[in-house]
Amino acid sequence: MSNRRKFIKYSAIGGLVTIISSAFKTKKLETYRDIKIEKPIVISTWNHGLPANKTAWEILGKGGTSLDAVEQGVRITESDPTNGSVGLGGRPDRDGFVTLDACIMNHKNQCGSVAFLQNIENPISVARKVMEDTPHVMLAGEGAYQFAIEKGFPKKNLLTDGAKKDWEEWLKKSKYQPVINIENHDTIGMLALDSLGNLAGACTTSGLAYKIHGRVGDSPIIGAGLFVDNEVGAACATGLGEAVMRIAGSSAVVELMRSGATPEEACKEAVDRIIRKHDSVENLQVGFLALDKNGQYGSYSIHNGFNFALHTSNKEKLIDSKYRHKQ
Ligand code: ASP
Repeated sequence: MSNRRKFIKYSAIGGLVTIISSAFKTKKLETYRDIKIEKPIVISTWNHGLPANKTAWEILGKGGTSLDAVEQGVRITESDPTNGSVGLGGRPDRDGFVTLDACIMNHKNQCGSVAFLQNIENPISVARKVMEDTPHVMLAGEGAYQFAIEKGFPKKNLLTDGAKKDWEEWLKKSKYQPVINIENHDTIGMLALDSLGNLAGACTTSGLAYKIHGRVGDSPIIGAGLFVDNEVGAACATGLGEAVMRIAGSSAVVELMRSGATPEEACKEAVDRIIRKHDSVENLQVGFLALDKNGQYGSYSIHNGFNFALHTSNKEKLIDSKYRHKQ
């Protein structure tokens, strides 16, 4: 292609991007003209977000930081043995090992992550230690475990009797078909804006039930399961991690907000992007959740069934997400 033709092609694309982003901007200005910044605020995925938000609020409500709030908030879910998709009690992989993925990110784009971590109940706190005590962002597997032990985290068997029984039942057929829950109880992703106006996020999961040993999903991947940019907003994802990673989902949501999309519009566009990249989304669920700098929030999922928990100074509730397809 000649340079001139290339230039015309790219200028046309540039023009289109400008039109799209100014369309978002116009809308944003109209929507936000009179808004009062809502802070502190915390939102998190699924109904296990309600008790997790309560703990996060104990910190936020007293003027604490969003980083402390999201870490302490999701630890509640991680330590709940009745929750089969996060931390203790999480469903194992197909070989019977509970392997955990988690990441955390603060308002300075500092982040920490652990993947394929075993025998540690609170991977989110290990991820925070990676962020604060090492020059790295991500530790995986045995190295992440050794690091956790060095930092004083106790070794713990995370396979509860209930999860073991379900796995043994699954073994009878051993049908390898990771099915993503369309109903409640998956990854917890939590986003918070504190009274100083700083955003932070956390994401933690045991991943897909009966996955291949060694599989890592989107949840510990900065930009996929979670992304925070304090100039703009924060986003997290739940659902089939492979689909989220393919579009760098949470990063995409934040970039769309940067271009002027509201949190819900940004989540919706990311969902549509996933739908466009798949021949069928019949058995595929992904939900995005986003919070912007002004404390505005929104979500969107491929199918109905996704919900999120909200906590502000005067509201504490579960909200059904908007979605593309009804199942
Ligand atoms: N996103 C998680 C994963 O793929 C699972 C989930 O949210 O259900 O590991």
